[in-house]
Amino acid sequence: MGPDWYCDEVIPGKIEVEVLARTGNTLAFRPPLPGFGTDHVIVIPTRHVASLLDLDDDLALELLATVKAVAAQAIERHGGCQVLTTLGSEQHNRHLHWHVAVGRGVARFVKPD
Ligand SMILES: [Zn+2]
Repeated sequence: MGPDWYCDEVIPGKIEVEVLARTGNTLAFRPPLPGFGTDHVIVIPTRHVASLLDLDDDLALELLATVKAVAAQAIERHGGCQVLTTLGSEQHNRHLHWHVAVGRGVARFVKPD
């Protein structure tokens, strides 16, 4: 197991975050420092789920609905956004989380010259 900032700090309210949406089992918030992008929102289940591969179908629907709501807000603000989650060696925080991000620092396709 790696670090779990969400269960350790965010869900118990040990750090202050700007909440954008909350449902019975999900939370969307801006981290204190954007991890990437210029507008960065994180969406998590509020009970521990290790990764997308461990997500059950009922919670998947609720979580995706929160991701959709946050993505729609980002599109209203910026005209577009990226939605992604990480897995395996690319997942540095061992609690399922989705990034909804816009702006400098988000992933870009590399265009051939
Ligand atoms: Zn957790």
